[in-house]
Amino acid sequence: MAEFNVQSPTEHDLKQRVEYLQQRVQQLEEQVHCLNSIISHIPGNIYWKDKSGKHLGCNQGIVELSHFSSSADIVGKTLFNILDTAHALEIDKVDQRIMATAVPETLEEHGFDKHGNPAVYLSKKTPLFNEQNEVIGLLGMTFDITERKQAEMALAQAKMEAELANQTKTEFLQNMSHDMRTPLNGMLGYLQILILRERDKQKRQVLDEILASGRGLLKLLNEIIEVMSLQSGKLPIKLSEFNIKTLMDELMHLMWPSIKQKGLKFTLSYQEDFPAVITTDSSRLFRILLNLISNAIKFTLQGEIRVELSCHDQGRSLQVMVKDTGIGIPADKHTQIFENFSRLSASYQGIYKGYGIGLHIVKQFITDLGGQIAVNSELNQGSAFTFSLPI
Ligand code: ADP
Repeated sequence: MAEFNVQSPTEHDLKQRVEYLQQRVQQLEEQVHCLNSIISHIPGNIYWKDKSGKHLGCNQGIVELSHFSSSADIVGKTLFNILDTAHALEIDKVDQRIMATAVPETLEEHGFDKHGNPAVYLSKKTPLFNEQNEVIGLLGMTFDITERKQAEMALAQAKMEAELANQTKTEFLQNMSHDMRTPLNGMLGYLQILILRERDKQKRQVLDEILASGRGLLKLLNEIIEVMSLQSGKLPIKLSEFNIKTLMDELMHLMWPSIKQKGLKFTLSYQEDFPAVITTDSSRLFRILLNLISNAIKFTLQGEIRVELSCHDQGRSLQVMVKDTGIGIPADKHTQIFENFSRLSASYQGIYKGYGIGLHIVKQFITDLGGQIAVNSELNQGSAFTFSLPI
């Protein structure tokens, strides 16, 4: 800007001064216009007002909500000139509180949208300060969250219904499995008597088949009851001291016929100094070993099964490895096999019986006892399941 002589301005000086001031006014007007345009287009509803509650400005959202034609119509009006008294009182109470305490607040407010439908707003309200740090008004920003709220409510309702349906299903399955087990046990008992008395070899073979299928069905029912009990948390952990070698002997007694029938080699080995007595949940440990060893037998056509027990972590951890030379598990299925009702279809073209529940129970039991399980396996190369448990 050119020099301006304040004491005795010439006509030229005055003309220059006026020109400069006109330019500044134009610049400031442009800036105000730009700011107004920005505020007007900010999404949501924005307003600011003085301490007496009179609006000083607002964006387009507020204009549309209050059915005025421009923000200029709202400036100078209080909430009581815009909303019905009850609604205005409710909002004004909050605004007065924020200006009195000088503490910003975020809250949900109930009102109406621009079409007059009930709406929920998420509001953030902040006190405005002057240079002396005194509260001179309030800035409010509100967003319509009605759709989000409705979706949340629908989701909560759907979750509740799904939980109820799941609980009903669990109870139904548990009751059904339980009720079916009793007559089935009776049928299998009589079938065994019938087999013992039957002299005709062919008839006995048919009865044996019926007995095998019946036992398969009983096993499934037992597993379903077990999974349901696990899911409902009805299987308490019972820790006790017991002789693990006795437990292994019981287990081998059960497994031996099928190992012999398939002509497999079987080795059970204990690490040197392996403790005879350990503390854990013996029924869970029995079920874990039973599942892993019967799987090893089931999925091994020839070769060997090895079960190795060792102690680690200065006797605080039991480690068991069940290794077979069976059909193996492809690497991309190592996680899937532990999921409920998960079996690998290739193994299931009628050759291997099972329902894909066993490993899920095994993993759940091991987790319950604070342990871990891992599988190391390759297709056609055999599998090694290794688990460890704190004892
Ligand atoms: P299933 O009753 O089908 O044996 P599991 O949950 O015990 O159910 O096992 C799930 C699947 O994991 C089996 O169907 C099988 O495909 C695979 N699997 C488990 N153990 C072995 C193993 N030792 N060798 C090969 N495949 C196995």
